[in-house]
Amino acid sequence: MTDSSIRLFVDMPLIPGAALGLSDKQAHYLGNVMRLSTGDQILLFNGVQGEWSARIKALSKGVALLELLKQTRAQAPEPDCWLCFALLKRQKTDLVVEKATELGVSVIQPVITARTQADHVNLDRLRAISIEAAEQCERLAVPEIRPPVKLAALLAGWPADRALYLADERRTEKYLRPSAEPSALLVGPEGGFTGAEIAAIGANRAVIRVSLGQRILRAETAAVAGLALLLATDPPQES
Ligand code: SAM
Repeated sequence: MTDSSIRLFVDMPLIPGAALGLSDKQAHYLGNVMRLSTGDQILLFNGVQGEWSARIKALSKGVALLELLKQTRAQAPEPDCWLCFALLKRQKTDLVVEKATELGVSVIQPVITARTQADHVNLDRLRAISIEAAEQCERLAVPEIRPPVKLAALLAGWPADRALYLADERRTEKYLRPSAEPSALLVGPEGGFTGAEIAAIGANRAVIRVSLGQRILRAETAAVAGLALLLATDPPQES
């Protein structure tokens, strides 16, 4: 019996017939939260080898041993899109990471700007939030979450072949459009970028200043709305 709603990310190779030992946290989740037992099946993915069904061979306190069965989905290419966002307070940063993962970004880059409200994050916690969002939204990969970087350093090391869309609330024309090219969205802090920051960003040749509409959106809303626009590339499959 497969309970396909249960998908777990595992950071290990997926080899047919192999026995896999999950973390005690995952064992607790399967046994105590989802009340599964020996013989039940779940889905696993590792971001590289697609999605696989696996049968529970043993499940007890802190121990979950699974046998890998068959591949249920091959690894499919995911959008090559980064989110660079000025770090927000904890709850809003968590929300942005969760939503950006659901929307399909490949890299999440927190940025320190003059008006950011935080200067450090707990990367392990953000990674856990991102893994849970990837498991829930049926992605086959988990985005890379990079340590916070200062805006000047981000711009200095910016790859010339990647378009950087600056979400600029003062821009009234040129709405953000979907792009299947390597791209990134840059969203400012609640207080906005300073004039000097806007000038430095604008001086970078990869930057395209875009509007997300007439209204001034909260930073977390701008991140979600911007990504939804930018990643609206692959139309839904006709049933
Ligand atoms: N500085 C602004 C102010 O207080 O007047 C507001 C900043 S807004 C809350 C936070 C960030 O969201 C902005 O830096 C920008 O990147 C993005 N943003 C908000 N509304 C936007 C819009 N309509 N178009 C493009 N970007 C927007």
